[in-house]
Amino acid sequence: MQSQQAQRATTESHQPDAVHTQLVPPATAAQQRAVVVLGAGPAGLTAAYELTRHGVPVSVLEQDPQYVGGISRTVEYQGYRFDIGGHRFFSKSQEIEDLWTEILGDELLSRPRLSRILYRGTYFAYPLKAGNALLGLGLGETVRCMASYLHARLHPVKEPRSLEEWVSNQFGHRLFSIFFKTYTEKVWGISSSELSADWAAQRIKGLNLAEAIKHALLPQRHAGGKPGGAVLTTLIDAFRYPRLGPGQMWERARDLITARGQQVRLGQEVVRLHHDDARVTGVTVRDVATDQTKIVRGTDFISTLPIRTLVEACDPPLPPAVRAAAASLKYRDYLTVAVILDKADVFPDNWIYLHDPDVIAGRIQNFKNWSPALVPDPRTTCLGLEYFCFAGDGLWEAADADLVALAGRELVKLGMCRAEEILGGTVVRQPKAYPVYDDDYKQHLAVIRAHIEHHLVNLHLVGRNGMHHYNNQDHSMMTALLAAHNIALGTHFDPWNVNTEAEYHEEADHAADDRSGRQMPQRINVAAG
Ligand SMILES: Cc1cc2nc3c(=O)[nH]c(=O)nc-3n(C[C@H](O)[C@H](O)[C@H](O)COP(=O)(O)OP(=O)(O)OC[C@H]3O[C@@H](n4cnc5c(N)ncnc54)[C@H](O)[C@@H]3O)c2cc1C
Repeated sequence: MQSQQAQRATTESHQPDAVHTQLVPPATAAQQRAVVVLGAGPAGLTAAYELTRHGVPVSVLEQDPQYVGGISRTVEYQGYRFDIGGHRFFSKSQEIEDLWTEILGDELLSRPRLSRILYRGTYFAYPLKAGNALLGLGLGETVRCMASYLHARLHPVKEPRSLEEWVSNQFGHRLFSIFFKTYTEKVWGISSSELSADWAAQRIKGLNLAEAIKHALLPQRHAGGKPGGAVLTTLIDAFRYPRLGPGQMWERARDLITARGQQVRLGQEVVRLHHDDARVTGVTVRDVATDQTKIVRGTDFISTLPIRTLVEACDPPLPPAVRAAAASLKYRDYLTVAVILDKADVFPDNWIYLHDPDVIAGRIQNFKNWSPALVPDPRTTCLGLEYFCFAGDGLWEAADADLVALAGRELVKLGMCRAEEILGGTVVRQPKAYPVYDDDYKQHLAVIRAHIEHHLVNLHLVGRNGMHHYNNQDHSMMTALLAAHNIALGTHFDPWNVNTEAEYHEEADHAADDRSGRQMPQRINVAAG
């Protein structure tokens, strides 16, 4: 297969195209570069946008034949537009906020946010508030939770290592089971007895059960009395969001890059990365429509491809230790089922966390609450049911029609609609949605980075899967900006420092909450005790 591809390959080199007059005046050295960017997600397009600003010729190669934006794309189905998840635009970095404004201007809306937890028909505050949680559970369950809590205080697990042990010690096993176990396990596909306690300690540090008991005994302190009633006011805040979904940001970025005379080529899968053990010399791309291949050459290469994919593509192959390290990197995959309902109002939240163990979906997005423009007919609603899975497992492999039927059944079970209100739906699968942090991933990354820094000096790794970092768009973009500056201006920023040095608007406090994207659980080595 590879040799056939190689035989068919043609050679192509990049010539600098005309550069837009509004750009920063290009330095001669910059014009002599020809940068090839692998992937047209937020990181790849940010790098290309910044390079064109400095007059550097650039070509972006994207495997998707239709969409730019990567995981942050907006998919269209029968006039309904929806995200892969839901993508809020927020950043502690003013530079990134300004860049979003520069690209999208007035089309970037300020939207109110509401999100809650749904468990057994009751809505709970999100982020979780202990008092609200106990109130919402009702008297009988609260008494059981208290008994379980007292038991845990009297007989705590000494030196808790796992999420299960740590949270149960703090709150009792019963509260742990309701508010932590199910959702965390849905997202990561790992038993909470195997997830690290450190992450739990960080994530729920604000919760105080003594305070909760006080609130539970003094319910009159809560406005409204109805579970979730007080929450509606306290949890609303605002975030920025493109009128037509996150993909609009990246479609506009692509248009600006091409208006500056540079290329964003869709349907071009990078299948080989050629190098001479000192530098990358070119990449072989496969046109996904024709299956034809050709070589694209350049002076510098910016990769946003998953590291595992990139290392596998190296030709000649990298040393066995580097390949083994890349092969050890793990991912969590994800699929979303968009369901169209003949119903105007379903729930007021942007999204809801589903804690019921007998519902497989982990979250539900209500896209019209992100932006009304995502729905062509306001009498209808488009919900996105999010399923966390592993590529190749039963969910991933299920037929689309079966997944739409499953999502429909789950919506009916949750009381969100009647079966006859379901108009149809579609499925979007997102492989490698989450880079997984296991015990060894840092070691593996160090091996790969060291090799690239010494043997592929013109290859720059940026972005989320590009650096195997659980990053939001802003961080993915920041790493891309730094790489672009290094190439265009000869600076020496280290994109690997972005995660540790940046500051963020909000604390991360939920398992799959991608608001901050920094905190995620690590698997512990259960065999070690
Ligand atoms: C469920 C979910 C919710 C999220 N919510 C938010 C949020 O609210 N706010 C936020 O800011 N961020 C959010 N994120 C994170 C955000 O999606 C990512 O940070 C961002 O998309 C990463 O950008 P990237 O360019 O690094 O990578 P990607 O988006 O993964 O883009 C990489 C691109 O490379 C392409 N590619 C891969 N292999 C090849 C190949 N061989 N050849 C050519 N092209 C290739 C892909 O098709 C893709 O277009 C969320 C993520 C998930 C999974």
